[in-house]
Amino acid sequence: MSFSKYISGIYTGLKSLVGGMMVTWKQFWSKKVTMEYPENRKTLVISDRWRSELIMPHDENNEHACTACGICMRNCPNGTINVISKKVVNEEGKSRVALDKHLWDYGMCTFCNICVISCPSNAIIFNNDFEGAVFDREKLHHQLNHPGSKLREKKKTVPAAPKTPVAPAPEATEATRPTPSVVTAGTSTSPADNKTDNAPKTSPSGNLSNEHTDKENN
Ligand code: SF4
Ligand code: SF4
Repeated sequence: MSFSKYISGIYTGLKSLVGGMMVTWKQFWSKKVTMEYPENRKTLVISDRWRSELIMPHDENNEHACTACGICMRNCPNGTINVISKKVVNEEGKSRVALDKHLWDYGMCTFCNICVISCPSNAIIFNNDFEGAVFDREKLHHQLNHPGSKLREKKKTVPAAPKTPVAPAPEATEATRPTPSVVTAGTSTSPADNKTDNAPKTSPSGNLSNEHTDKENN
């Protein structure tokens, strides 16, 4: 190696070193884009769309919405879900199917979300709790329904009677005001009217009275 090549090599090395140090120096003063986990656990923001763990929400009465229909189990492409049902007798004495165990394997799931979409009762959802790592594979088998939980009964509501709009009564005018009806024998269509009008009138003494006949006679 000639002396000139030796000097040229040192120059290239120093130039590369300074270039690298310039990048380090620049990043040292710029805003940090990386986060230190787990120190930032409390301030960590995970997207709502992140699918981590399949859960079955329960309310304050330890009730869920799963009817044990098994649709999620049948739609799961890799057999991650196992729905075990049981027969229970309700208050009316009728036997019906209820959920016994809703089992989900964290280690098998591909987080495709098909089970959530296909559930007709919206009984299961994915949360975004990403810390699912465990040391024992058995802990990846989750039972989604809580111990002692039961199906949330739909409240029976009595349908309200439909409101019929009441039209305001039209104002009576001379033209529309009803005139006293004059009952003419033989013109009434009501059997009751006919009976009343056509019936011979009796006087208090019990004799038949007939005004027309009397007038004609006079
Ligand atoms: S997300 Fe997909 S793979 Fe996982 S349990 Fe649901 S259907 Fe099965
Ligand atoms: S989670 Fe939904 S689809 Fe699955 S068994 Fe329960 S009600 Fe049916």
